[in-house]
Amino acid sequence: MSEQSFADLGLDATVLEAIIAVGYETPTPIQAEAIPALLSGHHLLGVAQTGTGKTAAFALPLLSRIDASLSEPQILVLAPTRELAIQVAEAFTTYASKFERFHVLPVYGGQDFRPQLQALKRGAQVIVGTPGRLLDHLRRGTLKLDSLKALVLDEADEMLRMGFIDDVEAILSKVPDNCQRALFSATMPPQIQKVARTYLKDATEVRIKSETRTVERIAQFVLPVYAERKLDALTRILEVEPTDGVIIFVRTKAETTLLAEKLSARGHAVAPLNGDLNQRQREQTVEDLKRGRKDIIVATDVAARGLDVERVTHVINYDVPYDTEAYIHRVGRTGRAGRSGKAILLVTPRERSWLRTLERATNSPMEPYQLPSPKDLQRLRVEQFEAQLLGFTEDGKLARSMALLDDIAERNDMDMAMLAGALACWLESAQPASLPLDTPEALPEISAEPRRGGKPPGKGGFRKGPGKAAPRNFRNGPGKGQPPAGKKKHGGKKKGAPNQPR
Ligand code: AMP
Repeated sequence: MSEQSFADLGLDATVLEAIIAVGYETPTPIQAEAIPALLSGHHLLGVAQTGTGKTAAFALPLLSRIDASLSEPQILVLAPTRELAIQVAEAFTTYASKFERFHVLPVYGGQDFRPQLQALKRGAQVIVGTPGRLLDHLRRGTLKLDSLKALVLDEADEMLRMGFIDDVEAILSKVPDNCQRALFSATMPPQIQKVARTYLKDATEVRIKSETRTVERIAQFVLPVYAERKLDALTRILEVEPTDGVIIFVRTKAETTLLAEKLSARGHAVAPLNGDLNQRQREQTVEDLKRGRKDIIVATDVAARGLDVERVTHVINYDVPYDTEAYIHRVGRTGRAGRSGKAILLVTPRERSWLRTLERATNSPMEPYQLPSPKDLQRLRVEQFEAQLLGFTEDGKLARSMALLDDIAERNDMDMAMLAGALACWLESAQPASLPLDTPEALPEISAEPRRGGKPPGKGGFRKGPGKAAPRNFRNGPGKGQPPAGKKKHGGKKKGAPNQPR
């Protein structure tokens, strides 16, 4: 992460206010380079993929340059898919939230023309759309580009792959000559290079760093998961992994607090670590992790810089890092003092291209992380419950407790089995061990990777692990680094009281 702050970059005060409200701590590397270049009016060529913060890298400076009082299209963004168009439009809405009058319009094929025409008539400063539909509007004269200040091609290589390159070039040839242009692409195939040479002369080029460094002693895993299932995935990881100290990395200060609150509500000893805490509070939080007063820290990259705590057995990348350098730093927070460590990366379908980049940067492939199936998790819970219970049969106070139960049983004319059941009910109200498996809510399937026998991942799905015919299923035997059910090592924890939320 860069040392710079957003305030140093020269953004418009209204835009800056919105970023503060969103809670971004520092610019991501691509933002630190792209924002000043775009603010100064240069064309920009950004080699970056989703997850690097590229949307804000162009949206923030371009918004800083528009005339908000003018309701005509001033920024035009071309995106390969409807989903991305909507996502980028939403990002613009967020970053322009402090503008008095602001309209962004997503336009894409498959949608009725009428509402788009009405919205275009009402006026919007930013239009985000798929190439085909944008071209239709240009040809019909329903989209006018006379006031256009900037054009962005987002995910240019995807637009090429999807066969939109002719439409893209047709649009490029229609924008005013003095219009600023930016092109973002994860890769640079020859046709995209040609577009860049023709339409983005003398562009400033920014690339995310991809230096290679070997990550030793750290087993790296990746878990494909849909964004809305990340919390479920995390909860399950924390339940089954033999953790001692854990650092969870997220993107924003707000998210450190939110996620820490959610985990705390689930019984974990957890604290947020972010740039809003003063030096003393940060030191205290790290000290709490060192001494075992806290087991989990939810941190941003900046706040966790240089953090060195030996008992950190796991680094969980809840949000993908911004560049490979950030990733290498994050996973390096485990495996300290010659110990081994484990890093688990949650990755959503849109971020899947990160995998290859990170594997290249660390010189090591990532193993697919295997979550236990609901059935296996159920068995694990029962085994843990049983182990805890049996632990008490050796307790010195057992005789006294039995006498107490005998007395209760006799007075209430009950047998001991019923009383034992009642006690189990009581214990289970804090940590259920026997959830019914017939409700999907009870133990939902989490991974975005289909299980063996499921449908193969299609477009937008996930690739399989290196050299594997299909992702291994926990049911069919545990994978490397995955403890077999009931045989967990309970690193640094009391026997019989493993990673259960406390
Ligand atoms: P993108 O690469 O544009 O798809 O952005 C990926 C995610 O990073 C989005 O959820 C953004 O909200 C988030 N993001 C972008 N810039 C920052 C930043 N400077 N700090 C924290 N999160 C960011």
